[in-house]
Amino acid sequence: MSDVTERNGKCLCGAIRITAGSGSNSVGACHCRMCRRWGGGPFMEIDCGTDVLIGGEENVSVYDSSAWAERGFCTKCGTHLFYRIKETGQHMMPVGLFENDECLVFDNHVFIDEKPAFYEFANETKDMTGAEIFAMYGSSP
Ligand SMILES: [Zn+2]
Ligand SMILES: [Zn+2]
Repeated sequence: MSDVTERNGKCLCGAIRITAGSGSNSVGACHCRMCRRWGGGPFMEIDCGTDVLIGGEENVSVYDSSAWAERGFCTKCGTHLFYRIKETGQHMMPVGLFENDECLVFDNHVFIDEKPAFYEFANETKDMTGAEIFAMYGSSP
């Protein structure tokens, strides 16, 4: 399976166009309370790193969601654009924004300990709790 070197995406209304340079094909789902409140369900995300170009940036609104991260959305159509770590500039982006999804692999869950009991994914994945995530990234909840 070869890695994609560039991903292209856009918001629902087309005011925002995204070019992400990441080669990662790994898709994760975040089940934390904040992501579920933000999007109405688990956040299906792809790690696009720091190499992200956002066209139509005047239409992006950024919500300061915690001490360590912020969340962007299109002011015209409300499409969620990114969860960005302030310190590193790392972008976790909704996988649904992108056109080319052929080589994606859904392989991890984060904040699995905050997942409610009423849904379950059947994919075989690596699952991490909130405490494990914070230990890995060195920030505290
Ligand atoms: Zn839009
Ligand atoms: Zn989350």
